[in-house]
Amino acid sequence: MRAKIIGANWKMNMEYPAGVALFSDMIDMIRTEVTGIQQTVVCCPFIHLHALAQLAAGHAAISVGAENCHEAESGAFTGEISAGMIRSTGADYVILGHSERRKYAGETSALVCQKTKIALSHGLKPILCIGETKDERAANLQIGVLKRQLNESVFPLDIDSFSKLVIAYEPIWAIGTGQTASAAQAQEVHWFIRQEIAARYGQETANDTTLLYGGSCKPVNAKELFSQVDIDGGLIGGASLNAREFVDIVKVYN
Ligand code: PGA
Repeated sequence: MRAKIIGANWKMNMEYPAGVALFSDMIDMIRTEVTGIQQTVVCCPFIHLHALAQLAAGHAAISVGAENCHEAESGAFTGEISAGMIRSTGADYVILGHSERRKYAGETSALVCQKTKIALSHGLKPILCIGETKDERAANLQIGVLKRQLNESVFPLDIDSFSKLVIAYEPIWAIGTGQTASAAQAQEVHWFIRQEIAARYGQETANDTTLLYGGSCKPVNAKELFSQVDIDGGLIGGASLNAREFVDIVKVYN
């Protein structure tokens, strides 16, 4: 059975002490309130990784991840952080291809694929994001857009590599806007993504792949979204900056 995962994406938020305090609060709440087998993955800025990974040690259901990595092994890339460096902090996951990186850092699907390969080679589990813009959705182009993103950023991987990925569908028009995709809209896309995975890697692999929904996911709408058959959890931005709200979303799977 595929894993249920609730990921946090703090983005460029939380100075160091505030981040440590927030994560400590989350751990306390998760330990006392979460009874399901869902995995919690808190993805945070690089400065927090080592401290959070140490706090998470010993809590099998809680992991830490980065929000990006560089595509090269090491070298003269001033200001960049490599997959190996992330792994050395104790982090297990890395978000790749988030729409904000595609938009503001000009990341292409081909680059995201390169980053995915190097992350995997260091034992990191990528949470690979895909999603369409508001204009693409308005023109009903989402299926073609997602197909292209899958073909270019995911499907060049062999089956062994692919089986270590988590895929997150994040419609860009729903990110940080308060405008969530309806459960039916999200399920329709997740179903499509799973069909595409089945066509590329086989039905068994598709059935085992964790597909997350991201975009204005909150305690009030998480239950309906996560109860869809092809939605296996969420990637939570804004609501993950508040321990109570985030853990209430994690608890949907209790
Ligand atoms: P949001 O962000 O929950 O604030 O919409 C989700 C994301 O960007 O991963």
